[in-house]
Amino acid sequence: MSIKSELESLWQQLKPSGAQLVAVSKTHPAVAIEEAYAAGQRIFGESTAQELSAKHEQLPKDIEWHFIGHLQSNKVKYIAPFVQLIHAVDSEKLLQTIHKEGVKNGRQIDCLLQVHIALEENKYGFDEAELLELLNSGRLAEYPNARICGLMGIATNTTNEQHLHGEFAGLQQLFERFKASHFGDAPHFNQLSMGMSADYPLALQHGATLVRVGSLIFGNRSYAQA
Ligand SMILES: *Cc1c(COP(=O)(O)O)cnc(C)c1O
Repeated sequence: MSIKSELESLWQQLKPSGAQLVAVSKTHPAVAIEEAYAAGQRIFGESTAQELSAKHEQLPKDIEWHFIGHLQSNKVKYIAPFVQLIHAVDSEKLLQTIHKEGVKNGRQIDCLLQVHIALEENKYGFDEAELLELLNSGRLAEYPNARICGLMGIATNTTNEQHLHGEFAGLQQLFERFKASHFGDAPHFNQLSMGMSADYPLALQHGATLVRVGSLIFGNRSYAQA
């Protein structure tokens, strides 16, 4: 299927829930993004600061760029002027840096806290206890230019649907709980980023508001070429 028809199918599937599609364009050339843009897609996700900056310069200015991968603190400055949402804040140090760069750029940068929900050890994110400690500490108030808008998770790479249901349901519960207990039901704490090409239909069943879909739209990634 073409990029356009894949997008149209995804938009249709997201419609009932109102969830938004982050088209994950990492490693794919600008022409592929232009094709998706021409079809009407406006939110794109990248996972390296260098690639994101280059594409931001090259492509239409009304694209909403999301950073979806593991972000090193020393790279925040490259994307801070324009990034719309940083999905995967996985340490307080990163949050602090995002705040500082937000101050420098005179803007509040929207972020999600990444929760480690997968079985794989090599995935990033806070666990529930660490998150609770950070939220209870009151230290978030020291970083007002990094605005926490919700949670993000990457599920285990498995075809076991029952297991995936468990991970997504757990993240949704955490999101609802923290929303009530620590964000006073603040209207901006409203994003739950979960679900990728292989598992987004399950994530939608558990209240995902942002799904991050790449290979289904753009085909397989070739890291050698990127
Ligand atoms: C690459 C990536 C995706 C997209 O993965 P696909 O399987 O191609 O849909 C989603 N989320 C994150 C964090 C990624 O790094």
